Amino acid sequence: MHAEIIATGSELLLGEVVDTNSTYIARRLREIGLNLFFKTVVGDNEQRMEETLRIALNRSDVIITTGGLGPTVDDVTRPAVARAVGRELILRDDLLEQIQARFRAYGSPLGAPIGENNKRQAYIPQDALPIENPVGTAPSFIVKHEGRLIISLPGVPREMEYLMEHAVLPYLTQELHLTDVILIRTLHTIGQGESRIDEAIGELELETNPTVGLSAKAGQVDIRITAKAATRVEAEALNATMEQRVREQVGQFVFGVDDETLESVVAQLLIARGQSVASVETGTGGLLSGRLAHVGKAFRGGVIMADGALIDLAAVIETAHRIRTERDSDLGLCASVIDAPEQRGLKLMLALATPDEVKTSERGFGGHAALAGQWASTAALGLVWRSVKSEE
Ligand code: ATP
Repeated sequence: MHAEIIATGSELLLGEVVDTNSTYIARRLREIGLNLFFKTVVGDNEQRMEETLRIALNRSDVIITTGGLGPTVDDVTRPAVARAVGRELILRDDLLEQIQARFRAYGSPLGAPIGENNKRQAYIPQDALPIENPVGTAPSFIVKHEGRLIISLPGVPREMEYLMEHAVLPYLTQELHLTDVILIRTLHTIGQGESRIDEAIGELELETNPTVGLSAKAGQVDIRITAKAATRVEAEALNATMEQRVREQVGQFVFGVDDETLESVVAQLLIARGQSVASVETGTGGLLSGRLAHVGKAFRGGVIMADGALIDLAAVIETAHRIRTERDSDLGLCASVIDAPEQRGLKLMLALATPDEVKTSERGFGGHAALAGQWASTAALGLVWRSVKSEE
């Protein structure tokens, strides 16, 4: 039993809008244990949409479409689905009434008739099951066809998510007798590159339930633990055991889990210890201040200097001390990213001044220059995290 997503909208193909709907649907399907095999993006073209649906009907049990349910001529999902399954579009009085009621409430002056184009939305393929849409006008529907399901949802993310949550997921769970629960636990690490983490937990990455996978992004490596089980409790237990085994190898680099971010963890630590931090940065695009702003009251402000203002470690150390004194904070943090032509890349110099000492770090960056600010601010926040944590 597996699923497929078809996102429609020429704006998606033109690169104007990012297809976040498919990502959302993919995650939610994973959580109910329904495997996703294909994702397609197709423009607002009825014939191509119909062809895409026919291909999907040949290879997938569940097909979820998003977009193209609006009232205009380029909203092609309704006719394309009808043609792909060889049925007529039928005017549904109940849907028409719903659309009219919504218009009376929000859309047009009381009692004004809805336009022909909105009436078009009340047509759905014969024998389709309408999904009530209390958050928008576009009626959504489910078509059962030769053992397959086509579920057509609107493109507006808020509407689509609401219908997934309240109608589609409960429907699929019941209709397909889905019993497996898939749970993901993500451990966020800093301070070790992906290959080092991979070396340390390589054996665990070969196991099948839970599976363990890595993903790296600008100075941070995430370890994703995914368990599949008959109940949530069992899946949680499997993940907890694996998390323990992962932590035995790389626990000192794990700064947070799941939705936690480096800035939220640093904020919690500083607030818990009643400490504050002020920062100076150069060559980082101001990202360090932006991220420290999440620290709230514990942040005593950040100074962004012109690129290349601090070119050696001695200047970085002095600046860290100075901002600490000036802002009367417990910690003074300074980060400078400069060109390092000899290494054909960039160099990051960091200093963290405390009342008693100064911690420093120097490292090269060979990644894309556009990511340097993110990478440098992660390293700088990491220095704060390690320093404050080591006092515990
Ligand atoms: P409506 O009746 O509200 O117009 P619809 O089903 O016709 O709904 P579309 O017109 O296809 O939806 O899309 C409406 C808007 O939703 C788009 O302009 C776009 O901003 C957003 N959207 C559509 N598809 C996606 C997608 N796959 N991911 C993210 N956003 C999307």
